[in-house]
Amino acid sequence: MQRKERVAIIGAGIQGVCTALFMQKKGFNTTLFDRDEPGNAASYGNAGHFSPYASLQLNRTDILSDVPSMLLSSRGPLALKWNYLPKMIPWFTKFVLNSSKAKMMHTAKYMHQILDLSLDAFDELFQDIDLEQLVVNNGIIYVWEKKGLKSRDLEINVRKELGVDQQILSSKEIHDLEPNIKPFYHGGVFYKNARHARNPKKILIKLFENFINKGGKFLKLNIQNLDFDDKKPVLRSDAQRFLFDKLIIACGAFSKRLTDQLHEKIPLDTERGYHVHFKNYENLLSRPVVWSDRGFGITPMEQGLRVVGTVEFGGLNNPLSKSRVKNLILNAKDMIKGKIISKMISEEKTNLDLNPYSSLRFS
Ligand SMILES: Cc1cc2nc3c(=O)[nH]c(=O)nc-3n(C[C@H](O)[C@H](O)[C@H](O)COP(=O)(O)OP(=O)(O)OC[C@H]3O[C@@H](n4cnc5c(N)ncnc54)[C@H](O)[C@@H]3O)c2cc1C
Repeated sequence: MQRKERVAIIGAGIQGVCTALFMQKKGFNTTLFDRDEPGNAASYGNAGHFSPYASLQLNRTDILSDVPSMLLSSRGPLALKWNYLPKMIPWFTKFVLNSSKAKMMHTAKYMHQILDLSLDAFDELFQDIDLEQLVVNNGIIYVWEKKGLKSRDLEINVRKELGVDQQILSSKEIHDLEPNIKPFYHGGVFYKNARHARNPKKILIKLFENFINKGGKFLKLNIQNLDFDDKKPVLRSDAQRFLFDKLIIACGAFSKRLTDQLHEKIPLDTERGYHVHFKNYENLLSRPVVWSDRGFGITPMEQGLRVVGTVEFGGLNNPLSKSRVKNLILNAKDMIKGKIISKMISEEKTNLDLNPYSSLRFS
């Protein structure tokens, strides 16, 4: 059914494009805006996990108590640009207040309900495109190095309570599944029904093209101002003004700049992650493997092995941290077996893709 309402979606990342397709299916006259070509931001640079199990967020007492040591460790999963600390204090205070067990479970329960629908929702969109084996159904593995890692039991128990499909792995089982991983682990968890993308951007472009082929509109414009005119959203770029019936802001890490203009007090800040590609080594792994203690993972992709990690709090304007990139390379070296990794590292200079990507984080 074709509706008369005109919907604007700002941001043509994976959120914007998928939302546009669903709005189109519901008959809305839908226009996507992006200041860039679609899919060049976080939706390109991520780890490619489809993770229906990921209902637990970072607001957890066990993680909070580890924050100081994580920040001080140069190889740890967490980093802070110290010049950003004063700006982060209000957000971080809210984050801490939302880290009680009751709040953690509240969020986990509702995240689980959403995530439980996510694979079916993707499948509905994938039916209309030729996926060319860009999505692999081999599950995702998390491995632990330290025996007493607090988060391990907590995660397993919460997921059990929520009914998440998980299989505890012995060292032998991990080795049988991924023989090219060094035996630093003492156990792990296998999420069998998780998937991974072999090229997140290619999938996004296929979905975007489907949206356009079905009559969707795309305007390459930077939306600078938002307002309302008689309760209808008004979008302004440098030189143009647009009036719509409904508006969806899907600008990822950049969303707050626009939601602030509408006086929406959403407690959002950004986190930055990095990835490094090792070209031609994708056959070393059959699925993504995450080293939980260090907070990084490796995903086999078309571009090679993609090593992804770091939660860096520092806003959107700080420069790239070369030390975080170096850490990823060293972490990969610690994860992948012997001679193979020396070859990967020696080729590293020509193979690095160094752009950092930011996504958003609620407090
Ligand atoms: C290193 C890293 C690894 C990750 N790994 C995973 C993972 O394995 N699995 C997972 O599910 N998630 C992962 N994520 C998170 C995931 O990538 C993001 O949640 C997701 O890509 C966000 O999509 P988006 O469409 O909201 O934003 P983005 O992909 O960031 O797109 C936002 C778009 O908005 C546009 N835009 C911004 N401001 C304006 C404006 N004013 N006017 C017009 N256009 C504008 C930008 O140009 C951009 O195209 C990871 C994130 C990072 C950083």
